[in-house]
Amino acid sequence: MSGAHKKSLAVLGATGSIGHSVLDLVARYDDRYEVVLLTGHQQVAELAELALKFRPRHVVLTGDAGFADLEARLGDSGAHLHHGMDALLACLDETPDLTINGISGIAGLLPSLRVLESGGALGLANKESLVAAGALLVEASAQHGGVILPTDSEHNAIFQVWSAQHAAAIKSITLTASGGPFLNTPLTDFAHLTADAALRHPKWQMGRKISIDSATMMNKGLEVIEACVLFDVPIEAVDVVVHPQAVVHGLVHYADGSVLAQLGAADMRVPLSYVLAWPERLPWCADGLDVLALSRLDFLPVDEARFPAVELARGAWRQGGVAPCVLNAANEVAVEAFLKGKIGFLDIIASIEHTLSAMSLGGNVDLEAVLGAHDEATATARAWIEQKGS
Ligand code: NDP
Ligand code: MG
Repeated sequence: MSGAHKKSLAVLGATGSIGHSVLDLVARYDDRYEVVLLTGHQQVAELAELALKFRPRHVVLTGDAGFADLEARLGDSGAHLHHGMDALLACLDETPDLTINGISGIAGLLPSLRVLESGGALGLANKESLVAAGALLVEASAQHGGVILPTDSEHNAIFQVWSAQHAAAIKSITLTASGGPFLNTPLTDFAHLTADAALRHPKWQMGRKISIDSATMMNKGLEVIEACVLFDVPIEAVDVVVHPQAVVHGLVHYADGSVLAQLGAADMRVPLSYVLAWPERLPWCADGLDVLALSRLDFLPVDEARFPAVELARGAWRQGGVAPCVLNAANEVAVEAFLKGKIGFLDIIASIEHTLSAMSLGGNVDLEAVLGAHDEATATARAWIEQKGS
């Protein structure tokens, strides 16, 4: 990757953890990337600071509050300032060479669809959109020539060792899970686990929502569905193993007995650099991985009694229809309630189970159905939580 043409880049969710990792890389390569669009939701000061540093053409604040503050901070900067999700979608019609979607939750869905519908390349960290509406995203990319670049570390690992030439010989894939902060916590303690404890992830520095997902292992449940969507493999061919060192991120098993894996530090800049430079590589990582320092690599089965989330997600995928969307929506509501101290740790899974069993899950899966199911699941999960608290 060299020469005069800079890749134009949009970073959605620039103020978050993924956004920071992407922009950390971009700052090292301002000769290769031109940031054209940055978005944030609530962190106005942070968004303004990033805009002054990276000088994008467009800056979008998607959250309701703080636009006047953004204007005051960036009025003289020359950037076009926009407010709201519709404005963000309109900006995406300019189709940057690459868009990284680091928005958290279902809010990432419409921007992902818009990028793919305009034939753009999408580094998709936002796994919730893949879980809720995977078929719609894949269909949009097939119809309009867009490309989804797997960005979640495990899926990026699979992407790196997936040989298209030998696709027919791929038997299965394995996603690794660090196991999160409660890997060795007895089930008898689970009812009393706090949000503070759940946010202390042993290996990864991430946003609050995904950190709680890691603690329940729903993150891995979402990722199993994400893998089925991205790689078009049956769910029986997606295994999960707990690997506490978080060095091996994904493995592809070939029919001739070879297993190809990707290894790297637990640092999102590794997969993000692959996405930024694809189909080339960015030589940003001077130190690399010290293999001699890896005294051991452990691989263990998931303890389903303590972490039922992976099986719950598998069940939702098998059920089909809007079940994965409902699973995702109920999880978003439950995680938010847990973070606010409204429900206990075990209630997260209980409220998802309740929501799945209370709703009708079949039918067509078009965008309207997905958005409708998301709203209904949100209301159902909220009602369960309210009732629990009363
Ligand atoms: P953060 O919470 O750190 O960041 C989320 C970003 O999305 C922020 O920029 C936030 O804006 C913005 N945002 C929040 N709500 C909305 C909304 N309703 N509309 C538009 N923008 C919104 O999350 P992460 O960076 O950790 O995760 C982002 C996504 O990437 C998630 O889907 C996660 O699962 C996935 N992912 C993250 C990994 C990680 O290491 N962090 C690893 C793999 C996947 P603001 O802060 O200004 O309010
Ligand atoms: Mg992951």
